[in-house]
Amino acid sequence: MTILDGPRSAPGNDRPGPDAFTPDTDPLDVIRWALESHPDVLMPSAFNLNGVVLIDLAVRAGYRGDVVFVDTGYHFPETLATRDRLAARYPELTFVTLNGGAHPEDGQTDPALYASDPDACCAVRKVAPLQAYLRQRAPGALLNARSRDQASTRADIPFVEDGGARVKVNPLAHWTRERLEAYAREHDLPVNPLYFDGFLSVGCWTCTRAVRPGEDARAGRWAGKGKTECGLWAGNNTL
Ligand code: SF4
Repeated sequence: MTILDGPRSAPGNDRPGPDAFTPDTDPLDVIRWALESHPDVLMPSAFNLNGVVLIDLAVRAGYRGDVVFVDTGYHFPETLATRDRLAARYPELTFVTLNGGAHPEDGQTDPALYASDPDACCAVRKVAPLQAYLRQRAPGALLNARSRDQASTRADIPFVEDGGARVKVNPLAHWTRERLEAYAREHDLPVNPLYFDGFLSVGCWTCTRAVRPGEDARAGRWAGKGKTECGLWAGNNTL
């Protein structure tokens, strides 16, 4: 992970940029900077608590672009319903589902590949469709909902990072889970109901369990498989 150096704002953009950001910077200011510096910015989302909060904040900041979701074919019905509730709530956004219609028997992978080789399964079902979409759209930046307290592997993410092909903007980097929950309550956001059953990070049903007391929010993802990320934000094929 590389923290960006050099020019931080587009010409004519007087808004304070990452050099002026502190841990207390309002995520709205980070999003506004992103919109002005990278007007083609796009937002992938899996509609977890962080993602739902980011969508709401982004709309308040003026984002009117795509919210891109990858249907692996193994999502919980509750996740798909959350996507639909969000799409109804935010008609000013365009909700894009990639790999639509995927299901375990669709021939994209061996239906049990998630168990034998989850990296390969994520690469085909999740990373590849999003990479193809991003190659086509070629945005200069992505809005991302990760936060530092989700997992030890995310403990140092900055507001703005250079991930290679494009800038990653992480407006919620410094928000805690408690703060995210409070925001969601205050604004009555459509949080995935599985969250309240202990699924603090929800991925595919095959690879997600509820989190136990004291565990990281992402401890229920690929538990016992030695895997912590799907490959979108860490690894060799990052976005
Ligand atoms: S989370 Fe599991 S089922 Fe979903 S794409 Fe990755 S390995 Fe496959």
